[in-house]
Parts: sequence; C-alpha cells; structure tokens
Amino acid sequence: MSENEERVIRRCCVFSGSSPGGRPEYRAAASALGEVLLEEGIGLVYGGASVGLMGVTADVVLAGGGEVIGVIPEVLRAHGVAHEGLSELRIVDSMHARKHEMAELADTFVALPGGLGTFEELLEVLTWAQLGDHAKPCAALDVCGYFQKLAGLLDQAVSERFLKPVHRDLLIMASEPRALLAAIRNAPRVNAGKWLDRGSQSGLSAPHLSSK
Ligand code: AMP
Repeated sequence: MSENEERVIRRCCVFSGSSPGGRPEYRAAASALGEVLLEEGIGLVYGGASVGLMGVTADVVLAGGGEVIGVIPEVLRAHGVAHEGLSELRIVDSMHARKHEMAELADTFVALPGGLGTFEELLEVLTWAQLGDHAKPCAALDVCGYFQKLAGLLDQAVSERFLKPVHRDLLIMASEPRALLAAIRNAPRVNAGKWLDRGSQSGLSAPHLSSK
C-alpha cells in the first residue's frame, strides 16, 4: 500500500461512555456516528453493552441493518449490561482479552465522550500505535469540545519532551462524524522510533532547555 493511498475502513471500533453523559449533544453524536457508519457500510465493533452512549451507537447501526460485533468480558456480562441483540456477541475472559479482540477486529478506533474506560482505551491504542504494534488510525469525536483538554495535555507532553510531535499527531480529531471518517481515511502512515533524547540523563540537551 502506497503512502498516499486512502485507507479502507471495513469495521470501526468505538470507545464511548457506559453512561450517557450530561448533555443531549453526546447522545446525538453517538447516534450520528451510527448513522454515518451505516451510510458508509462500515461495521461497528464495541464493548458490547446496552447502556450509555455505547448502546446508542449500537442500536442505531442495528436498526439500520448494519453489522455490530460486541466484545464483553464474562464479568461484565454477569452484571446484565450486555446487549443481547447484536449481530455477534463475543464473550472473553478479561478486559485485556477484550481490548485485543476489539483491536484485531477493527481497522480504526474512534472515541466518543466517556469516562476513565474510554480514556484508557483511547490512550492504549495510541500507545500501541506509537510503539508500531499497529498502524490503525486513532481518533476522537470532539463533541462540544470534550477532548480539548486531552489535546492540551498531549501538547504539553510534546513541549516538555515526553512525546514526539509525530506521535502527538496520531490522535485525529474532528467535531463531526463524516469529517472524522474522512480524516481517518487520509491519515498518514507513521514510522518513527518511540524515544526522545535517548542517552540524555539530565535532559539539559533538550533544545528548549539549551542555553544556545
Ligand atoms: P467509561 O468511559 O468509564 O464509561 O467506560 C466505557 C468504556 O469502557 C467502553 O468503551 C467499554 O469498552 C468499557 N466499559 C466500561 N464499562 C462498561 C460496561 N458496563 N459494559 C461494557 N463496557 C464497558
């Protein structure tokens, strides 16, 4: 595949709140993402629950006749939150097994607003991308500016020389689902080593700290 070739998205893994959030815009965005996935013939892979924003996107894709694969650990299913009407519900042993399975099944990752689980899932796939474990685009749907502070934190990590700009740019953001999918299709392929300032123990060789 050439560097400029558009990526093909067959399945999109969505991370999102197991709660609906405090604004109607979040639910509307979860639903809009489902509509766009349907229109573009993209299957949904997600955490397999019927609750929160997760359930909203799944219900929209299912109602339109799209493919929805849920991957849920036995322990969460036992809590009764699993969506039992999916195209396929895969039951796995642990949260870790679930994340690997979701990552294998999808060509790209999209986070919607959510809490700790959503942040952890998004940051984990970004971390894997940074290490070169996969080359799948990682994105966030920035509904009502929800991800702006995360973007600011990543910018801080760059300015403090803990993160390379090229890895900071792995996080694709847009406020509208169609624009987000377009950005995902055109995402550059990144191939850069992980470490910054390797061998510099004091950190004083970092350009922004240098007296020169
Ligand atoms: P949170 O943002 O903390 O609500 O966590 C949501 C994310 O973590 C989702 O993308 C899921 O993959 C996972 N998750 C957390 N809680 C649940 C749950 N009750 N059922 C299914 N998945 C969950």
